[in-house]
Amino acid sequence: MENRTYTADAEPGDHVTVAGWVHEIRDLGGIAFLILRDKSGKIQIKFEKDEMDEDLVETGLGVHRESVISVTGDVEEEERAPTGVEMLPESIDVLNEADAELPLDPSGKVEAELSTRLDNRTLDLRKEEVKAVFEIRAEMLRSVREYFRDIACTEINTPKIVATGTEGGTELFPITYFGEEAFMNQSPQLFKQLMVGSGLERVFEIGPIFRAEEHNTPRHLNEATSIDFEAAFTDHQEAMDVCEGAVKAAYRGIAENCERELEALGFEDFEVPEEDFPRLSYEEAIERVNATGELDTQLVYGDDLSTEAEKALGQDVGGHYFVTDWPSEIKPFYIKDHEDDESLSTGFDLMHPRLELVSGGQREHRYDELIEGFKQQGLDPDAFEYYTKMFKYGMPPHAGFGLGAERLLMTILGLENIREAVLFPRDRQRLSP
Ligand code: ATP
Ligand code: MG
Repeated sequence: MENRTYTADAEPGDHVTVAGWVHEIRDLGGIAFLILRDKSGKIQIKFEKDEMDEDLVETGLGVHRESVISVTGDVEEEERAPTGVEMLPESIDVLNEADAELPLDPSGKVEAELSTRLDNRTLDLRKEEVKAVFEIRAEMLRSVREYFRDIACTEINTPKIVATGTEGGTELFPITYFGEEAFMNQSPQLFKQLMVGSGLERVFEIGPIFRAEEHNTPRHLNEATSIDFEAAFTDHQEAMDVCEGAVKAAYRGIAENCERELEALGFEDFEVPEEDFPRLSYEEAIERVNATGELDTQLVYGDDLSTEAEKALGQDVGGHYFVTDWPSEIKPFYIKDHEDDESLSTGFDLMHPRLELVSGGQREHRYDELIEGFKQQGLDPDAFEYYTKMFKYGMPPHAGFGLGAERLLMTILGLENIREAVLFPRDRQRLSP
């Protein structure tokens, strides 16, 4: 729209046209106020009924809430106005009138259930604190991208329609691809690994992953966004350094660039983790969980860390931490075992006190061992020939990780449910919108 001024840029003495949504109309009798909202904020528009054109007053005050209008007029200083300025309208254009009845109250005065909010996401995102989540999400991804670019990584995009899944199993969504069975990819794992043997060497991808998991939890989506990193001549320790760097970069970017959004979300001070994330071995983690006395049944070596165990350990550690040196059989076949102890994997998880954020590790780059790994996992190596054969033509040692973007956002902002960290969640019940 030509000559449109954002409400936040309207200064006393300006003659402007603002455009946005009718947030509220307050009629006090002789005087009335219309609050107009746009991406940048809000502005008060004053109607002095006796002194203004009747039609103008009628148009301005007769319009339903959430209608889209544009208003032209002078901006004046007004101490009593919420933003310290107000506009005196000369003309008003109703661009699209909203229904009188709304399925959701964007002013937030009437609270709505999450499912109502998700069904009406457009209206939901007119709320300052909901919009803030997605402005922060954008900044989080920008900061992470910048971090990876600074450490010489190339951003890639790998196929999401694939012939075989990364780890096989029942977690794949099948689709029909020109009459053939295909799947939605559950992870860019194999493709990003192929790139470390290419001329690109160091890559990252921010893209969708699809998991046909049946569970319905506050931390699982069936379509999520994964922040993936993979680099040649890198071991698991270096991959953990990068992982820690990426997470801290996200916090820092938000702290520096999202002051207004953090305020809208009620943050009084927003803490950027500065300390090194401790690296606990799996064995230490098990002992530490058991020592908390929080679990009904003590863990034994070889158990995966249950949700309860993660919670107890998170409370005990009190911040982000890595779990390293997992028993090999718990971790996927493409993760390398320690050279001096084959019962231990180089796989690692980065944990937030609330939940798992990352899985990573050093990868198996030796052809024979890789084929053996497929067989042990019960997968047919022939089905993965496009992947395995490249390991015969010069595949360097490499490592990497996958970081869930929605989980990162929900832990940074303390969101209760992962569905709040994604615009249009896909879960067991939700395929639309
Ligand atoms: P979990 O055990 O918590 O279900 P996972 O170990 O199956 O996760 P990975 O395959 O290790 O997950 O994926 C790497 C990262 O991707 C996870 O640490 C998590 O941050 C994210 N992620 C994986 N699955 C999901 C999902 N269904 N919804 C949201 N994020 C996910
Ligand atoms: Mg994992």
